[in-house]
Amino acid sequence: MRHDPALPWYRQLHWQVLIAMGLGACTGFVFGESGAELVGWIGDLFMKLLRMIIVPLVLTSIISGVASVGGGRALGRLFGKTLGYYMLSSSLAVMVGLFFVNLISPGVGANITEATAAELPALDTPTSPVALLLNIVPENVIEAAATADMLALIFFCIVFGAAITTLPERSQRVVIDLFDALFHTMMKVTSGIIKFLPIGVFALIARMVGTTGFDAFRSLALYAFTLTSALTIHMFITLPVLLIILGRISPRIHFANMREPLLIAFSTSSSGATLPVTINSVEKNVGVSNKVSSFVLPMGATVNMDGTAVFECLGALFIAQVLGFDLTIMQQAVVVLTALMASIGAASVPSAGLVVIFIVLEAIGLTGPDVNVIVGSMLAIDRPLDMYRTAVNIFSDSCGAAVIARSEGETDVDMEIRSAVAAG
Ligand code: ASP
Repeated sequence: MRHDPALPWYRQLHWQVLIAMGLGACTGFVFGESGAELVGWIGDLFMKLLRMIIVPLVLTSIISGVASVGGGRALGRLFGKTLGYYMLSSSLAVMVGLFFVNLISPGVGANITEATAAELPALDTPTSPVALLLNIVPENVIEAAATADMLALIFFCIVFGAAITTLPERSQRVVIDLFDALFHTMMKVTSGIIKFLPIGVFALIARMVGTTGFDAFRSLALYAFTLTSALTIHMFITLPVLLIILGRISPRIHFANMREPLLIAFSTSSSGATLPVTINSVEKNVGVSNKVSSFVLPMGATVNMDGTAVFECLGALFIAQVLGFDLTIMQQAVVVLTALMASIGAASVPSAGLVVIFIVLEAIGLTGPDVNVIVGSMLAIDRPLDMYRTAVNIFSDSCGAAVIARSEGETDVDMEIRSAVAAG
C-alpha cells in the first residue's frame, strides 16, 4: 500500500482502520448478537482472503529472494555473514518474545472466544526432534502447498532458490525474472486485499464486541502491552548490544543516522516501501558501501524481520493461552522454530505478520473457528503494533549492514551523525 503524506488524513489507511474500529465497537455494542451475526460473514470473508494468499505469497517471496542473492566466492562469504547475522538477531528476537509472553501471560483467562472444552482443537505433538526435522522435508511439494504445510514449503523454496543461482546465466535470468514477476503479482493481490482492511476490521470488531463485550479489549490491551514491551527491549537493548559487541558501533549514532527510515517504516508499516529510504540512509548517513548495503538490505527486508519474529512467537503463544493450552517444552520449541520460519516467510507489507501466524498455529495443531476469531480480534488492533514491529524490522537490517560492513574493513561506518542528503 502506497503511503502518500499529501493525502487528507481521512484517506490514510491507519486512520481509516482506527475509525473502522470505533464504528465496529459501537455497532457491536448497540446491536449486540444480532449485529454481530449480520456482519460476521464479512469478517470471515476477509480472513479467507488473507489465508488464500499465504502459499503463493510465501513461495514466490522466498524463491525470488534467495535467487537474487547470486553466486561467486565473495558473495558466498557475504551470504554466510548475512545469514549468520539474520539468524542471530531473529533468534534473539524470538527469545525475547518467548520470555515476555511467559512472564506476563496476557492470554491466560482472557475472554475472547466462547469456546467450550469440547470445541477446542487437539494439539499435534511431534514425538521427537528427529520427527520434527523429518517433517521439514516434504515428500511431495504439491501436497505441502495444498495442505499449507509451510515449514516444508519454505524448506523447498530455499533449496530451489539456491539451485537457481547455479544455473547457466541465461537460464538463471529467465527463472529469476519469472519468479520476480510472480512475486510482484502476488504483492499486487496482497495490496488489493489490504485495501479492504477497514471493512474487515469493522466487521471483526463488531462481531467481537457484539458476542463477547468489552472484556476482549481488556485482554487485548494486555497482549498489546506485552508485545510492545518485548519490541522495545529488542530495539533498545538487544540490537544496540549487537551493534556494540559485533561492530564496536555507538548505538546512539546509529539511531540518529537511521531516524528517517525509522519514521517512514513507522508510517508505512511496510519494510518493502521503506527500502529505498533505508538504502539511502545506510549508505549516506551510516556510511556503508553499496557492495554491502545492496546485498544485505533488500534480502533483509524480505527475510530478516526481528519485530515480526517477536510477534509470531508471542502472538501464537498468546492464542494458545487464550484457548487454555499449557504447551509442553517440545511444543514451545516448535513455536520458536516456526516463528523464525514465519518471520522469514512474511512479506514486507502491512499486516503480513498476521497472515503468516497461521504457519505457527498450524504447526502445533491450532486451527478452527475459535482460532480465527482470536486472530480476527488481534487483527483489529494490529495496525499500531505493525507500525512498531516494521520499525524494528528495518532497524535490525540496518544494524546488520553496519556490522557486516565493519567486518569487511569499512572503518567509516557510524563514525559521526550525518544528515540525510536531499534526493538527487
Ligand atoms: N509489516 C511488516 C513489515 O513490512 C511485516 C509484518 O506484518 O510483521 O515489515
